[in-house]
Amino acid sequence: MNASLKILKKYWGHTLFRPLQQEIIESVLQGRDTVALLPTGGGKSICFQIPAIQQEGICIVISPLIALMNDQVDTLKSMGIKAISLSGNIHYNDLDRLLDNCIYGNYKFLYLSPERLHQELVQLRIAKMNVNLIAIDEAHCISQWGNDFRPAYKNLLILRKLHPGVPFIALTATATPEVLADTINELELKKPNILQKSFYRENLAYITLPEEDKLYRIEKLLNKNESVIIYTRNRKKTEEVSKNLNLRGFKTSFYHGGISEEEKKIRFKNWMQDVTLVMVATNAFGMGIDKSNVRTVIHFDLPESLESYFQEAGRAGRDEVYARAIMLYNPSDEVQVKNQFLIHLPTPEFCKIIYRKLCNYLYIAYGEGEFTTHPFNFEKFCQQYALHTIKTYNAIQALDRLGVIKLSIEFGRKTEVHFLVPSNTLLSYFDRNEKASSIGKAILRMYSGIFEKPISIDIEIIASKTNQNSATVIDILKQFEKDGIIHFQQTTTDASLTLIEPREDDRTINRVSKLLIQQNENKIKQVASVLQFKNNDNLCKSVQLLQYFGENTTASCGICSVCTKQESLPSKKESLLISDKILLLLEEEVALSSREITEKLTFTEQKIIYVLRLLLEHKKISFNTKNQYTLS
Ligand SMILES: [Zn+2]
Repeated sequence: MNASLKILKKYWGHTLFRPLQQEIIESVLQGRDTVALLPTGGGKSICFQIPAIQQEGICIVISPLIALMNDQVDTLKSMGIKAISLSGNIHYNDLDRLLDNCIYGNYKFLYLSPERLHQELVQLRIAKMNVNLIAIDEAHCISQWGNDFRPAYKNLLILRKLHPGVPFIALTATATPEVLADTINELELKKPNILQKSFYRENLAYITLPEEDKLYRIEKLLNKNESVIIYTRNRKKTEEVSKNLNLRGFKTSFYHGGISEEEKKIRFKNWMQDVTLVMVATNAFGMGIDKSNVRTVIHFDLPESLESYFQEAGRAGRDEVYARAIMLYNPSDEVQVKNQFLIHLPTPEFCKIIYRKLCNYLYIAYGEGEFTTHPFNFEKFCQQYALHTIKTYNAIQALDRLGVIKLSIEFGRKTEVHFLVPSNTLLSYFDRNEKASSIGKAILRMYSGIFEKPISIDIEIIASKTNQNSATVIDILKQFEKDGIIHFQQTTTDASLTLIEPREDDRTINRVSKLLIQQNENKIKQVASVLQFKNNDNLCKSVQLLQYFGENTTASCGICSVCTKQESLPSKKESLLISDKILLLLEEEVALSSREITEKLTFTEQKIIYVLRLLLEHKKISFNTKNQYTLS
């Protein structure tokens, strides 16, 4: 048995590697820069963990996802392997100590975010470490051609400078050929060994299904005992769909970024343990999910790119047993997806306006503001300047992606204050500090009972009552807490915003405008790919996806909606017959849903839907807002 296999057995308890893992590990052990393209769930982390354990020294792991880092570090620790993650706010002294551990403490893994590499202390210490491998997770984030571009990934070249001889392993789950080439180029990989596992999933049936009444369809499609994820586009819809399915006898729950962390954990756990079988979620649900028995993933709305579709759909059937990825769509979805993703693409000009207003709103003077964090209420911001919300949101998101600002969203928690000292102590404390006094007294006036128990307060209101900005109020409350006057549990109203660069108005945006335009073009291409995938019913869906990801394949999967449909489509003669019947029906009944039409005719539903689509395409019939067909 070779050394890698021994480690696999010792720590993971497996006796066999999964496809490609061994090749990747060997490549790394030979000291080669390596690119590992493995679909999610393909056992990526073992590919760098085993060679790192096998060799002297420490492995530096870069990951964009804090939750995933912490998860992996916990797992390593539980196996008795020393690992550290530098995530969240770490005090300078702690950081110092943690980094020292990596130099002198026999640690095997140091996990950090790309942003963390900015810090000089971190760079200085990494230079002193005996590094055996540098692992870049989600490596495609370095490519501005991709959906997930993270400007901070450009920092990674620092590692190359600090440790020129150490091999890189770049790991990614999805990358189109362009993104892959760009990633290799940006990371300056030297003659990399590219190891790619085919993205082909033989047990996964990709099904695209036209349907006006999606809830009805889901009811028909799902077995009430199977584990399911239903992806919807927005938060509100997760709740609606979940509620409606519960009324139809399903056990569902919903999940999105606006739910408290505690509640998220509970819902996630219940779903993992099959207590609630169906999870209706936004794309916030998914990172790090490794549940083997998901039988069906449904896209209730069209996804924004085939990259995210492939990842989300791929969560079904990890156990290699037959599973379905179903994309439901109706005639209005195409318009909707364009409205959501394309109409409001932020132009550089609009970003300039928003950036300037943001800085004004946060009281940031020209040339200042670098690395300052401010509480940020998006709705109030839009209200104050009478801004279009979707357009503004997209612009702020773009500024975030471009590394101009960092938006952190924390919903649903409250800011609570509890005064801990008697009022006479308080008053003498206030006497010494005028600004603190005005804020402290305002809080005492506005909130009764604050000496007895923690009371939730509104920072914005206090700020406006005392003519201060919210950041000052928070700073003063923090000072109170330090001085032992209050207990202060701070959460921002709904988000916080950090400036990454000093405010330079148009100049700031000009620096990134080329990139912004490129990203907009990329977005347009991605949406077009999704629509093409949905509309193309001539080529096997699996083949379409694989070709999109650069695989040269033409072998049909045999189980997707295209492969299984061929026989069940109506002949030309039959189509004409069905078409006549439908037109006649609509003439009599004026408006009917496809379900009603199916009930009234004797043909199979698949054939009727096929003909309805033909009639729509030829503009013989139209589709109204009540999900009904009418004569044109
Ligand atoms: Zn197929």
